[in-house]
Amino acid sequence: MTDSAPQTDTVRPLPVTEVGHWDLEADVVVAGYGIAGVCAAIEAARAGARVLILERTGGWGGAAALAGGFVYLGGGTPLQRALGFDDTPENMATFLTAALGPGVDEARIADYCAGSVEHYEWLVACGVPFREAFWGEPGWEPPHDEGLMYSGGENAAPFLDIAKPAPRGHVPQYADKKIGQRSGGYMLMKPLADTVTELGIPVEYDTRLRRLVVDGDRVVGVLATRYGKPVTVRAERGIVLATGSFAYDTEMVDRYVPRLSGRPGAAIEEHDGIGIRLAQALGAELAHMDAAEVALFGDPQMLARGILVNGRGQRYIAEDTYPGRMGQATLLQQDNQAFLVLDERSLEEALATVTSTPFFRFPPKWVAEDLAELEAEMGLPEQSLQATVATYNRHAEHGADPVLGKKPEWVRPLGTPLAAFDLRGFTAGFTLGGLRTDLDSRVLHVSGEPIPGLYAAGRCTSGLSAGGYVSGASLGDGSFYGRRAGRTAAAGS
Ligand SMILES: Cc1cc2nc3c(=O)[nH]c(=O)nc-3n(C[C@H](O)[C@H](O)[C@H](O)COP(=O)(O)OP(=O)(O)OC[C@H]3O[C@@H](n4cnc5c(N)ncnc54)[C@H](O)[C@@H]3O)c2cc1C
Repeated sequence: MTDSAPQTDTVRPLPVTEVGHWDLEADVVVAGYGIAGVCAAIEAARAGARVLILERTGGWGGAAALAGGFVYLGGGTPLQRALGFDDTPENMATFLTAALGPGVDEARIADYCAGSVEHYEWLVACGVPFREAFWGEPGWEPPHDEGLMYSGGENAAPFLDIAKPAPRGHVPQYADKKIGQRSGGYMLMKPLADTVTELGIPVEYDTRLRRLVVDGDRVVGVLATRYGKPVTVRAERGIVLATGSFAYDTEMVDRYVPRLSGRPGAAIEEHDGIGIRLAQALGAELAHMDAAEVALFGDPQMLARGILVNGRGQRYIAEDTYPGRMGQATLLQQDNQAFLVLDERSLEEALATVTSTPFFRFPPKWVAEDLAELEAEMGLPEQSLQATVATYNRHAEHGADPVLGKKPEWVRPLGTPLAAFDLRGFTAGFTLGGLRTDLDSRVLHVSGEPIPGLYAAGRCTSGLSAGGYVSGASLGDGSFYGRRAGRTAAAGS
């Protein structure tokens, strides 16, 4: 045993023999007070454990409090039923297996879908409000305080033929939203943080997890820093890592998801991958480190009414689908090259709709009286866009889109005059890969065995998404498996 200050600038585990004294102690120590951490803390405390939360910043919330607030739930939640939507866990699982792949963990998807109704009820019992109103328009988020929306392309090609469409984006009620700053995510976090207060769970703010303390194979505590000074924290039963993604760790992004380099979005700077690296240093297994959520900075009402083409003037995705799916397709498959083309009538119709993202309604870069002129102005190869529009219009005359399956309600021949938006490079996103955990949120060693005393949830883990994404999957699996982590850690199993 020694009383000299341990090194804080390495991710290597700290042997317990080098910890001179413990500054703080609890049964379950939760690192990170965002969505996964808050749920872990509540469940661990309710299971009878003495819980302590360590949070790097000066307040609760993390990315979750800034989020749009979609929680992906279904299988027949009371909100779905009240609004007249049929859904079953099996139907939800069929959709998620198709939408979140390739390579999904089917056992995890089945587990999540089976527990989804109970999870909704748990959130409601904690005070999270969901208003019984459905928002059925294309959009990134409901513009008002509606509680339910399609948030993953369930009602668009190709999924509408794979599973019965059901909206599953459950959004906590919050009036006067301001996207990215004050939205549904705040009203998800606030009642949960209030629950933490009611349960008397202590929180150490400005306290940053730095290293894991180990006794042999077992994690028995953490080394943190506060205002530059080391703080040692003993965890009798377990540590829950809930520190978020690696979206803001440049080196990790360059290494694992290079297409996302330089374009982090929908994350916070504290998402620096620390939870992943600390567990890696103990031999933890990783999964789907190349997976990424990607937003396309476009207006969904305009997109649905127009055609989205790549750098060769070709369409590549049904424009009435989930905009995050368009983002992934653009960044990951089209070299981040995208143009949106629509006619004046459709543009005017789109601009007359209500939106939650007015900042995506900027003026078109090009306008032209005819298609050949537009194609030339955009610098596209001659006849590329013209051929695309000829095919589109030919089928649109009959209200169909056999090429990509856009629904008839959004299909109409493109007329003139025309407008085009330059969406090249208009994407950003966050990482979805991370620690491999079992369904009880135990962090798995590369051998496949759990690492004793170490649990994790949220975006430092690989959750539901293996590649594809739906809005609500992060707050969904973060809260769901955060609860599991809290319960398993409290049981010390
Ligand atoms: C604008 C925006 C909109 C979004 N919309 C949605 C949406 O509608 N639906 C959805 O599912 N997802 C959405 N997301 C993504 C979602 O918010 C995150 O992926 C999710 O919050 C991740 O949960 P988490 O618990 O892993 O991380 P967080 O909720 O960010 O919590 C992590 C916490 O850990 C803390 N922390 C980090 N490092 C340390 C450390 N070393 N020591 C101690 N504490 C530390 C952080 O400060 C933070 O408080 C959105 C995000 C943003 C920013």
